[in-house]
Amino acid sequence: MKLSQTLYYGDFVAAPAAIVAVSTAALAGGSAYDAGLWLAALAGGFALWTLIEYAVHAWVYHRLPWFEQGHAAHHDDPVALIGAPSFLLVGGLLLIGYALYPIAGAAFCAGLSSGLLAGYLGYMTIHHMSHHARPGRLLAAARARHMAHHYRGGTTNFGVTTAFWDHVFQTASGPGARPARV
Ligand SMILES: [Zn+2]
Ligand SMILES: [Zn+2]
Repeated sequence: MKLSQTLYYGDFVAAPAAIVAVSTAALAGGSAYDAGLWLAALAGGFALWTLIEYAVHAWVYHRLPWFEQGHAAHHDDPVALIGAPSFLLVGGLLLIGYALYPIAGAAFCAGLSSGLLAGYLGYMTIHHMSHHARPGRLLAAARARHMAHHYRGGTTNFGVTTAFWDHVFQTASGPGARPARV
């Protein structure tokens, strides 16, 4: 759906703010063990995000009719400020991150949530820059991959942050081919 500037750019503030809030709350006065657990869960959360990103884009946005319609608006007008209602996403990722709270505890859940949110922030940044800027060498490959996703009618390259899951599910394509349809 089309978002206001506040909602669209709000995630760039809300996600880091949530990371700082949950992590400082969980780690304040905590032990070195808690800090290690937080760090390991952070890495796990980031990895989990990349799979969520792939799954939602490939199997929800490009498969399920109602979501397909909404996502088609982004494919039709890639520079419009379109996305999922943004603060909902930050809230949803916190819910996933804290789902295991009764057995895993605060440090683990804060780390997992922070990893998920950092992944989401990375995705938002790379995706935004792919359409709105000419990113430097660092993001050029990610941008080329995502442009191929758009040029090929959304049939390949569903991962934005990483091509890893596209290789796993054999949906990766190189950036060189001509547009199949726009
Ligand atoms: Zn895009
Ligand atoms: Zn798409």
